[in-house]
Amino acid sequence: MSIYADHAATTAMSGAAIEAMTRCMKEEYGNPSSLYRMGQRAKETLERAREEIAGVIGAEPGEIYFTSGGSEADNQAIRSAALTGRKKGKNHILSTAFEHHAVLHTLEALKAEGFEVTLLDVHSDGIVRPEEAEAAIRPETCLVTVMTANNEIGTIQPIREIGEICRKKGVVFHTDAVQAVGHLDVNVQRDRIDMLSASAHKFHGPKGVGFLYVRKGIPLLPLIHGGAQEKGKRAGTENLPGIVGMAAALKEATAGREAEAARLTALRDRLIRGLAEIPHSALNGDAKRRLPGNVSFCFEGIEGESLLLLLDEKGISASSGSACTSGSLDPSHVLLAIGRVHDVAHGSLRLTLGRENTPEDVEAIISATKDVVGYLRSFSPVWRDLQSGKTPFIL
Ligand SMILES: *Cc1c(COP(=O)(O)O)cnc(C)c1O
Repeated sequence: MSIYADHAATTAMSGAAIEAMTRCMKEEYGNPSSLYRMGQRAKETLERAREEIAGVIGAEPGEIYFTSGGSEADNQAIRSAALTGRKKGKNHILSTAFEHHAVLHTLEALKAEGFEVTLLDVHSDGIVRPEEAEAAIRPETCLVTVMTANNEIGTIQPIREIGEICRKKGVVFHTDAVQAVGHLDVNVQRDRIDMLSASAHKFHGPKGVGFLYVRKGIPLLPLIHGGAQEKGKRAGTENLPGIVGMAAALKEATAGREAEAARLTALRDRLIRGLAEIPHSALNGDAKRRLPGNVSFCFEGIEGESLLLLLDEKGISASSGSACTSGSLDPSHVLLAIGRVHDVAHGSLRLTLGRENTPEDVEAIISATKDVVGYLRSFSPVWRDLQSGKTPFIL
């Protein structure tokens, strides 16, 4: 048995993307900056991909900048808005405590450079409150950055409301939409988004390529200096096969998006019902306002890492939080941000369903997780203390 249930970490490449990339690598190896016809053909292919991608999110082609992925897009958007703000005497940035590390660690670096950062609390339902964001905006705030959907607990944020507040107050609004693009209806016009980050490998495209949307009129500073590619905002010969693969994957994901979301939502809700039968367990984040494929649970009295390894032995690939924090002993900052105590946060499991998953997969995951949680609890000293009443149950 082999069940991949870690689509928030990365996804398998779509056949359409592989085909488009292969064709590009074989036939279009010209440099888009070269003046001869072969280079100009590559340039046309590059601009066609830009148009396709822009169309999907309601942007203009000139507002799309290709990057090496979501992390680079987050770094560039945040650093650019911060340094632009500082020139106007504004040095405060507002974000949330449960952002991806590509955002949080960029903010840490900016703090060391003299910026003030406020991280909004996230409520136990995993959702940020727009009125709290509004109240935290100051005259010297130069940037608000709030993710569209969380990568660990899948909760979807009130991006439009936050976007409207920022537009009204004249503050730049960035959203890390890496988990949303290709999965949710993302529209930068409707949601008043000034900057948006996306990554191809989260929607069945290739790894190492993504894009940053920057609304016309919002200044963008380069992170990587060199040649004049991407209007001088991102130097380096374009990763044309990657960009072409990203456009093909996004086109495919967009065409099937609504039907796939409905299918995944049904699988997700069945998985949530099944896992909720395990005693002393709890779903993390709101049950409905979450990504179609995301299921995140805490089980009391066990270690998430052991759970993962035993599930892996049964052929199930899952995660205990974000792939980036696995290997460290600190519990997930996301689970702590929604108020889970350390002991409970340690017993977490993230299952993210996607395109290849079937109803049979979901039944197999439920049955395997029940077995493994029971087995781990059978010799867990923490569980023994909970059972005997020596320590109280939290869930
Ligand atoms: C995966 C992810 C990123 C990082 O994207 P890369 O392309 O892997 O650099 C950033 N933010 C979120 C929410 C993600 O899920």
